[in-house]
Amino acid sequence: MKRLFVISGSSGVGKGTVIKEFLKRNPGFKLSVSCTTRSMRPGEKNGESYHFLTREEFKKGIEDGDFLEWAEFSGNYYGTRKSNIQKELNEGENIILEIETNGAMQVKKQIPDAVLIFIAPPSFEELKKRLEGRQTEDADVIKTRLAQAERENNDAKNYDYIIINDKIENTVENLEKIVSQYAI
Ligand code: 5GP
Repeated sequence: MKRLFVISGSSGVGKGTVIKEFLKRNPGFKLSVSCTTRSMRPGEKNGESYHFLTREEFKKGIEDGDFLEWAEFSGNYYGTRKSNIQKELNEGENIILEIETNGAMQVKKQIPDAVLIFIAPPSFEELKKRLEGRQTEDADVIKTRLAQAERENNDAKNYDYIIINDKIENTVENLEKIVSQYAI
């Protein structure tokens, strides 16, 4: 049976890199493309990184019941379209959702056999350093994101697994070990 894996972790923790490396090494897994109202970062492509929607489009999606889950994060909406998940499960692929913790809780409620994995930073200081080094966001945004990170680290207790991301290579291997117990 194909499974749904939910991966969360505060911004700057390196989950994007971990997931990218995992997908390279493990065909048969598909990363779901989320919808968001935030603006596009340099290098991002509409329909690949995210489906970039206006707030109006997103709100209409909520009203129409299009989303499996959605949440407001740092002043923007983020959500997973039901139709995306259905399509990929029908195509016989294991799905990875890379979403924040409120959304993850909504998924667990609706799909109890979804596997929830939280990627945590080695320390809060390390996370701050990584976020500041990324230089894609200004100081205010970083402050909000650090506050979010604290909240999200608290939510980690509701997850099935927590992986500490000290070295990317180790984290990917740990992720593979977890996933291999479920996915075929
Ligand atoms: P970013 O703006 O850095 O791409 O993402 C900000 C946060 O939104 C990250 O924690 C990311 O995992 C989360 N996120 C991305 N897509 C979704 C989604 O579809 N639903 C929810 N709930 N969170 C999402």
